[in-house]
Amino acid sequence: MAEIELNARVLSRTDVTPALMILRVTPENWAIPAFEPGQFTVLGLPWEAPRVVLSDEEEPVPDPKAMIVRAYSIASSSRQNEYLEFYIALVPSGALTPRLFALQSGDRLYLSPRITGMFTLKEVPEDQDVVFLATGTGLAPYLSMLRTFLADSVTSRRLAVLHGARHSWDLGYQAELRAMERLYAGFRYFPVISRPTDEGCTWSGAVGYLQDLWNMGVVADAWGRDPGPRDTHIFLCGNPGMVEGMLSQLTDSGWEQHRSRRRPGQIHVEKYW
Ligand SMILES: Cc1cc2nc3c(=O)[nH]c(=O)nc-3n(C[C@H](O)[C@H](O)[C@H](O)COP(=O)(O)OP(=O)(O)OC[C@H]3O[C@@H](n4cnc5c(N)ncnc54)[C@H](O)[C@@H]3O)c2cc1C
Repeated sequence: MAEIELNARVLSRTDVTPALMILRVTPENWAIPAFEPGQFTVLGLPWEAPRVVLSDEEEPVPDPKAMIVRAYSIASSSRQNEYLEFYIALVPSGALTPRLFALQSGDRLYLSPRITGMFTLKEVPEDQDVVFLATGTGLAPYLSMLRTFLADSVTSRRLAVLHGARHSWDLGYQAELRAMERLYAGFRYFPVISRPTDEGCTWSGAVGYLQDLWNMGVVADAWGRDPGPRDTHIFLCGNPGMVEGMLSQLTDSGWEQHRSRRRPGQIHVEKYW
């Protein structure tokens, strides 16, 4: 296998919390290839790269120069070709994220020039509305879709984001999503938190898990009709527990998982682990 080289730099880093960050990565002397919003690529660092202080200690590795690589959904618009943006959660016991969280602006890392994935609106007929459900950083692919399609008013379908996190401060991109809601009549944003007792100030929004939010009928109330498999596609991204739970509930209600163009369905799935 050809040796993987550090071929990109951190353009900027925004810490949403100490364990959640927005990382913009720019290629060094190569162009970002065209991609479809919702797709992912790969980031990497060698084992010898330092780990952030907040992370767990690690056993020594046999080859410190070997590269650790992991998949990350692109959060930036596909019209943005200066950098790719990623929304990343720290896994303290993990191999790569503690090293990504030690990076600062200007630091070098590996960015794969191969961008891939089927978790895109290309798989959805034009006349269908779409509900995007995400836990945590599972929001990333939807941001890319919204930033690309809403900004250019390329879509007239109704879109809704249901975003679940533990705390209100873990709801990254909240301000941008609320601004999109004000700017685009067809778009609605519904956040939900699962640990309201940790909040310093009173949280007046929805409480519980994403499944609870869906079952509350927030989309039906906003759209004035119950979304169903004939008129609506559902995207599920993030925590496998949420994805499996929603998948089983939706399939019991007559929806089908989209497997490929030959085996189409209305539920699109991206599991992060
Ligand atoms: C298609 C795809 C897209 C992805 N996009 C993103 C993204 O946009 N942002 C992002 O943060 N991650 C994303 N991931 C997850 C990412 O690839 C890594 O698995 C994650 O960052 C952990 O890497 P690590 O090396 O630190 O942990 P590892 O050493 O690989 O440990 C992995 C273990 O940590 C746990 N774990 C992994 N991810 C999480 C998490 N987010 N929260 C809690 N526990 C976790 C699981 O138990 C998993 O088995 C994506 C994964 C896939 C398959």
